[in-house]
Amino acid sequence: MEVQQLLSKYMLEISKVTDEKSLYIAIAEIMRKVVDYKALNVIVQSSLFYAEPADQIINEEWFIDYLPWVEDRLSPTFLPVDNWYVGLVPIFKGVKLLSVIVLTTSEEPTAEVIDYLQLLSYLSGLTLENLRLLDFVDNAREYSETVLNLSSDGIIVFYKGEIEFQNVKSSEIIKNYPDILREIEAKIDSNEEFFEIELPNAFFSMSVKKIQLQGEERILVTVRNITSEKEVQKLREVDKIKTNFIANISHELRTPLTAIKAYTETIVNVPMTQDEIKEFSETIYNQSLKLEGILNDLLDFSQLESHTLKIVKEPTNIHDVINDSILTVNHLASQYDVKIEFNFDQDLKINCDRKRIEQVITNLLTNSIKFSDKSKEERVAKIAIENDGDFVKIIVEDNGIGIPADKIDKIFDKFYRVDSDLTYSIPGTGLGLAIVKEIVEMHNGSISVESEEGKWTRVTVQLPNE
Ligand code: ADP
Repeated sequence: MEVQQLLSKYMLEISKVTDEKSLYIAIAEIMRKVVDYKALNVIVQSSLFYAEPADQIINEEWFIDYLPWVEDRLSPTFLPVDNWYVGLVPIFKGVKLLSVIVLTTSEEPTAEVIDYLQLLSYLSGLTLENLRLLDFVDNAREYSETVLNLSSDGIIVFYKGEIEFQNVKSSEIIKNYPDILREIEAKIDSNEEFFEIELPNAFFSMSVKKIQLQGEERILVTVRNITSEKEVQKLREVDKIKTNFIANISHELRTPLTAIKAYTETIVNVPMTQDEIKEFSETIYNQSLKLEGILNDLLDFSQLESHTLKIVKEPTNIHDVINDSILTVNHLASQYDVKIEFNFDQDLKINCDRKRIEQVITNLLTNSIKFSDKSKEERVAKIAIENDGDFVKIIVEDNGIGIPADKIDKIFDKFYRVDSDLTYSIPGTGLGLAIVKEIVEMHNGSISVESEEGKWTRVTVQLPNE
């Protein structure tokens, strides 16, 4: 047989090969063209892997001692055994032995046959190594794809602004929340690493990393649905708020109630002068006003919840309203030693619900007084009016304890109170500003707060000048 023929036969047979077993079947087929063997066995790592014909197992004792020698030489070798020749053909890649083909034949092979076998062994080594590599790559791909697809996080790789790869979880998230892709793309450009994305009824956490793959930059994004974690967190917060509210409201009710009880008992049980009775009764009256205030807050709150809070607008002199509010809080201001400043002498009328706007201003002034800073020598609450034609601004500013920057957004929430050592003993229900905001918005106005913790707070109410 010519080398040419052998090579074309090899190519033909090898083209059908899909795995190691079929490779050895092909090799056995080709070798038959070169050596008229009786049996052909393939030994992989000292064990029989394939036999041709299937029932012809070559006696191990005939060749086992020579395997290390073949491994050293890496070229076909024939040994005379009884009336046979046992051929050992190493299949190798570089210096690495991959397997040994053992065959038995009755004829001593010529030098030309040995050369052919050498060529076959070299080509088979290459093919076998390729097969193993392909297998390895396939397994590795399957392995990493399985791991990536089992991940509960969405994983996306962006290359030049396009999605180059995404795992099953990511496709699922994008299918269920198509808007998320726009959010993700916007965040990628912002150069930060961690984000939270809020969509209607769903929350996601997301991380963005620049990576180098195949010498080029890609962006690896992981997305996790954290809606249930957020819900649990919210429920916990609501729970905490409820507990705080109940503790607060009980305290708020108990204080005036205890005073009323004690003063009444004294009047009933202790002989007193008319003046003393008058003084005690005044205290009882003031305490009952406090109770009434709390009940009004609760009532307003329930109306706010059921959307039955109503306003009745009438032309109102805003200065008179402010003056009435100041009168209402005067007693509290002297208790806390807070000076109230209001300088404005021009008359200004706007169309509003007089009682409700007085409630708003009284509430803001009360907060400025309650949250005044004991450590400051001068405690001030200033109220000012600005009129820019379309709108009237009522500005209440104090030099009190201020509000931490991360809490400012929350102070209009129902029941929310800043929880700190400084606010701990200050009475309140956390409903005031929620009601204030509602009233202002019912007037088509707006309310905003600025503050610097430990320094000052400024609340601005803007009402349409109608
Ligand atoms: P309450 O006064 O009953 O606690 P509010 O709804 O009026 O409830 O206010 C909510 C929270 O906002 C207060 O508990 C307080 O922590 C903070 N706050 C409001 N006004 C001021 C202010 N002028 N200075 C500092 N903190 C304030």
